[in-house]
Amino acid sequence: MTVLGLIDKCVNMLREVGIKSPLADVEWLASDIFKCRRSELALYAHKMPTHEQVDRMLKNIKRRLDREPLQHILGIGDFYGYEFRVSSDVLIPRPETETLAELALGFLQPLTSQIVFDLGTGSGCIAITLAKRCPGLKVIASDVSESALNLAKLNAETFNAIEQVEFREADGLAALVEDEQVDLIVSNPPYIPSGDISGLQPEVRYYDPHLALDGGEDGLQFYRLLAAEGQSRLKPGGKLMAEFGDGQESAIEGLFAQAAWPNVETSNDLTGKPRIVIASAGQ
Ligand code: GLN
Repeated sequence: MTVLGLIDKCVNMLREVGIKSPLADVEWLASDIFKCRRSELALYAHKMPTHEQVDRMLKNIKRRLDREPLQHILGIGDFYGYEFRVSSDVLIPRPETETLAELALGFLQPLTSQIVFDLGTGSGCIAITLAKRCPGLKVIASDVSESALNLAKLNAETFNAIEQVEFREADGLAALVEDEQVDLIVSNPPYIPSGDISGLQPEVRYYDPHLALDGGEDGLQFYRLLAAEGQSRLKPGGKLMAEFGDGQESAIEGLFAQAAWPNVETSNDLTGKPRIVIASAGQ
């Protein structure tokens, strides 16, 4: 069987169980095994794979058939053009979270010594992306999960950002010491209502850590905390930017308005859905 034959066979296996993008998934897995870019796979099409390559490919396809996400099989997830190491200890970086990073970068001034707090850093993708784009920035990145922080540290080392990002194991705003204030709080907190988790697609439900998904009964647990206590943690003129889930927009705007933030807006993700709350502290 040629490489092309192997690719066709694998695509059919994934298609049969209803996986949405079988060709793209197989091409990513094949380019990992043949150590080439996806666009270069055509050069291998008529070559014969070794037994070992076929075995590895079929093993990885078996994992994908079990709905393990592609990023876990490859061990990496792309975020903002950087390849972050991922595992079952952290949420796989999502494209909608890139919108959050972009809004944060629009607010930050790359060369000044601002301070950002990333609450629930997971793989570290937001914290490290901001640090790389803003060389003067200091980032405090927290998580309750020690294993997530270990992976985030590894990512920070890989991207040479360990000097800029300080990792703290803590829950919620307890990561900040007494009186500590920052210019920007960013967060992609858990926001799925507990009862909705069992209805999520298998790749999320079985493989993303529930700690990173479960936002309590109505999904708003972290926004209550951010709305109530976030403002006192910001310097004058500081902002809070946080991602939220489908249909949570007005409840979240209400929470921030109730907590007397001078200005609250929301921003859409690339699919046009409201996804990020931006709340400004007073001057
Ligand atoms: N965006 C993720 C999802 O829909 C949830 C991430 C989160 O709760 N922060 O699966």
